[in-house]
Amino acid sequence: MIPAHFDYLAPTSVEEALAALGEHGDDAKIIAGGQSLLPVLRMRLNAPEVVIDLGGISSLRGIRDDGDAIVIGAMTTHHAVRDHDLVTEHALLLSKAAAEVADAQIRHRGTFGGALAHADPAGDLGAPALALDAQFVIAGPGGTRTVEAADFFVDLFETAIGDDEILTEVRVPKHTGWGAHYEKFVRVAHQWPIVAVAATVRGSIDEAKVGLTNMGSTPLRASATEQALAGASATEEGVRAAADLAAEGTNPPSDLNGASDYRQHLARVLTGRAVLKAAGS
Ligand SMILES: Cc1cc2nc3c(=O)[nH]c(=O)nc-3n(C[C@H](O)[C@H](O)[C@H](O)COP(=O)(O)OP(=O)(O)OC[C@H]3O[C@@H](n4cnc5c(N)ncnc54)[C@H](O)[C@@H]3O)c2cc1C
Repeated sequence: MIPAHFDYLAPTSVEEALAALGEHGDDAKIIAGGQSLLPVLRMRLNAPEVVIDLGGISSLRGIRDDGDAIVIGAMTTHHAVRDHDLVTEHALLLSKAAAEVADAQIRHRGTFGGALAHADPAGDLGAPALALDAQFVIAGPGGTRTVEAADFFVDLFETAIGDDEILTEVRVPKHTGWGAHYEKFVRVAHQWPIVAVAATVRGSIDEAKVGLTNMGSTPLRASATEQALAGASATEEGVRAAADLAAEGTNPPSDLNGASDYRQHLARVLTGRAVLKAAGS
């Protein structure tokens, strides 16, 4: 289908984009890579009167070193995140997860910030961002604020970003030297995950961080597994025992791809695989 008519604005600064958002309020919608928004517009699930394109704001693109963190601009593509030296060195988990997003065409158009702002519970980047304790920098009419990952994902397709705000960048604390693996379970290549597990571990295993994709309305941490793994040796038996706790406290959906209890089974199995691979990477 063809989207309903809208006016198109192309600001060249965050301030201009915020002013446009403030002026048009509920009638406006931000567009980043368009990989999720355009299908929504074409299906007429949303019909904004004004679309504000962030593509011309160069300050929103790129990845930089900021001492104890790397900072990823919201408009940086999945492709750029996957391949960037700072990401592979300090946040390997993000590189591994970005490689699993859709196909090459979508990875070249879709953006890191767009995917996180969209907050699809099946999106591949939320769980790694949560596991790495990322911080979300959000600009609004009153200035800039920073939101911890644990507070950023509010509900299904809902984040802490207000209607008059823009996600500008994501700070990812350095996890230099940590092993990492993103284990994604799909029936067909390039699909959204039925369940996926993001695992990153320090040493073998001094500390582990594990995020779950599509196990609830938001990305989740497998806290019981993380606690069981802390200070454990990375034997297959020990890791599998800790992974058996991965579905604790989760409430995954049931749909055509799998029932809720099947997803919980998957979470346990995939957590074991992800942690073992992370410990070996
Ligand atoms: C066929 C297909 C398969 C896909 N498969 C996968 C997959 O396997 N895994 C996966 O993770 N993703 C998948 N995606 C989605 C893809 O990752 C998109 O890139 C992502 O969901 C949205 O990023 P975008 O830059 O295109 O955002 P857009 O589509 O432009 O925007 C998405 C939403 O976020 C808002 N938004 C965007 N940027 C900002 C910002 N900076 N501040 C505030 N709000 C903002 C927009 O207003 C909109 O509501 C798939 C998409 C398609 C079309």
